[in-house]
Amino acid sequence: MTSDQTSNQGTRPAIEPHTPQRPIWLCRICAVDWPCLGARSLLSVEFATDPTGLSCYLAGQLQAAMADLSDLNPDPGPDPAALHARFLAWVRPRVAIARARLDNAPTPPPPSAAGSPRES
Ligand SMILES: [Zn+2]
Repeated sequence: MTSDQTSNQGTRPAIEPHTPQRPIWLCRICAVDWPCLGARSLLSVEFATDPTGLSCYLAGQLQAAMADLSDLNPDPGPDPAALHARFLAWVRPRVAIARARLDNAPTPPPPSAAGSPRES
């Protein structure tokens, strides 16, 4: 008797959410400036059909980050241009890449045709 019969149920590992740790605005997973690469990838896929919505969401996050980081370090405070680049400048090109990947993703064959060679 082995435990292998019940250990592999084909479950997929959960994708960890790359969310910001406020008020320092570091990723809770990566511990780098949020939005980290993981967050950018996940957000680009989530908003692949709505890049304007992603920009609006990130603009709100940028505003909150500006307030939090200004409270933590008011002099000299965060650099607005750097925060714009960090939160918004990457959105359009990144979403374009995500959309291209989703559009070119191979579609799985129908279950009836998979793995069964036809006889002629
Ligand atoms: Zn992260």
